[in-house]
Amino acid sequence: MAQETSLNSNDDVLAAILGAVIGIVGGFFLISLLEGKKQKCPVCNNNIEQGVGVCPHCGAVLQWS
Ligand SMILES: [Zn+2]
Repeated sequence: MAQETSLNSNDDVLAAILGAVIGIVGGFFLISLLEGKKQKCPVCNNNIEQGVGVCPHCGAVLQWS
């Protein structure tokens, strides 16, 4: 019984570590996906979406070549 209990808790720890690793990797993956679409305005350095014609923060006209 004692061995079963320790095996079960080992499984729980492994599952928790696995879940944490998958969660962290998935989180970084999502962040990198979102960050890939974000650009910084060269004038005011605020985050803007790539492809916008005018910076919503400072009104600078942006050229995407
Ligand atoms: Zn700007």
